[in-house]
Amino acid sequence: MRIVLVRGDITEQRVDAVVNAANSSLLGGGGVDGAIHRRGGPEILAECRALRASQYGGGLPTGQAVATTAGRLPARWVIHTVGPVHSGSEDRSHLLASCYRESLRVAGDLGARTVAFPAISTGIYGWPLDDGARIALRTVRAAPATLVEEVSFVLFDSTAYAHFERALGDLGEIVDTP
Ligand code: ADP
Repeated sequence: MRIVLVRGDITEQRVDAVVNAANSSLLGGGGVDGAIHRRGGPEILAECRALRASQYGGGLPTGQAVATTAGRLPARWVIHTVGPVHSGSEDRSHLLASCYRESLRVAGDLGARTVAFPAISTGIYGWPLDDGARIALRTVRAAPATLVEEVSFVLFDSTAYAHFERALGDLGEIVDTP
């Protein structure tokens, strides 16, 4: 599986599945979540509401992932995952790793070959970018094989990109830009 770093906006990615840094309500929010619902249109929210009315009545638990249509986005699916809020007193790294692992598993089950991730939890949820990048890359690299052939990390600004570049270098990999 190829790992690619992209500087850009997740809503513009022409991939099979884009991952949303959602919150457990699945009913929208700020950051990536707000952008995906704004650009993707009401179809995504309608499917999220249906999920809340069926198997996720209590909301989507942190670290889990579920797919909906991508509406008007140039992708086929949105995979919603709920990152942990960063805590200075409790290690929630396993939950952040779970977001990447579970999203990839859902992507594989859908038959997605290309998947784009944002830097989950590193915005409103306050996860430090260096650690968030390290967890993201290590987890994806170590994830069980699926049909997914290419994972891109879509970084919104040059700081986030630089952290992912460094973390990828630390894994001994050469940065591959599309
Ligand atoms: P969380 O609540 O999980 O922290 P956010 O959406 O607030 O999620 O932020 C996650 C990361 O995504 C942050 O690094 C933020 O800068 C970045 N980001 C925000 N909007 C976009 C976007 N449209 N495309 C890609 N990354 C984005």
